[in-house]
Amino acid sequence: MNNLTNLNILKDILHRHGFSFSKGLGQNFLINSSVCPRIAEMGNAKEGYGIIEIGTGVGTLTAELARRADKVVAIEIDSRLLPILEETLHDFDNIKIINKDILEVDIVKLIEEEFGGMNVAVCANLPYYITSPIIMFLLESMARIDSITVMVQKEAAQRLCAEVGTRQSGAITVGVKYYGEAKLLFNVSRGSFMPAPKVDSSVIRIDINNDKRYGEIDESFFFRIVRAGFSQRRKTLANSISSTLGISKDIIFEVLLNMGINQAARIEELAMNELIILSESIKKSLN
Ligand code: SAM
Repeated sequence: MNNLTNLNILKDILHRHGFSFSKGLGQNFLINSSVCPRIAEMGNAKEGYGIIEIGTGVGTLTAELARRADKVVAIEIDSRLLPILEETLHDFDNIKIINKDILEVDIVKLIEEEFGGMNVAVCANLPYYITSPIIMFLLESMARIDSITVMVQKEAAQRLCAEVGTRQSGAITVGVKYYGEAKLLFNVSRGSFMPAPKVDSSVIRIDINNDKRYGEIDESFFFRIVRAGFSQRRKTLANSISSTLGISKDIIFEVLLNMGINQAARIEELAMNELIILSESIKKSLN
């Protein structure tokens, strides 16, 4: 297989196939030869593992994953890349490409059908325009995935890896913490991509804890409260939850009073267990 991070080789392939980058689909392809092997190695691409990749580009990371793991199923939305992948991944017999929007894939079914007894991990250089929706989609699918190792914008990585209850946190921080533990692996400069994006990137890994740690709670209501609270993060949590979900402020104030939390608190000040108590108490008060 050709070295796809070699600029001349990459340009030649793209030119021969008449391919032009789509900004809307977040197409920034890796041209730094050390990055894909590192993502693959730190992302559980190894014997006994089936890997789901999101967004193949020309197959640079796909090939590194397929070299190490038992099988790779790669989801790519852009059908213009299919003939290119046929050429670049020709040497591999353990790769399946699915031409679809990742958000429309039934992940549980895919794992059942494609990965038999293998362990499963996700690895990707994500399209940045839908980083959070993709991560929440994977986590909420409750599919048996051990880890999600992804390249994201540096700022998104900081939010994903932040502690709940700090200024850096957001709804996605709470989502990640609810299902697992996120860790920053390494940073990647903008010059490692073609075309170069305007921001630097980081690779993070979320290790998923498949044993639920927060007991029997109404998850869907919990995430509605969290999203509402963070949707207007400069406001108090009472104001943002009340205006977004139409819940009376008196109910929220009473819950906060019982929890010993100031009425003027913002959602980013609450720890994980406080967010759980908040949503469960509001839910009870509404019944
Ligand atoms: N993995 C390649 C690399 O590292 O060079 C490409 C990464 S590029 C940042 C993101 C890829 O995701 C593109 O190939 C793009 O077409 C694809 N993509 C964008 N939106 C997608 C979606 N909703 N579902 C699946 N793939 C998507």
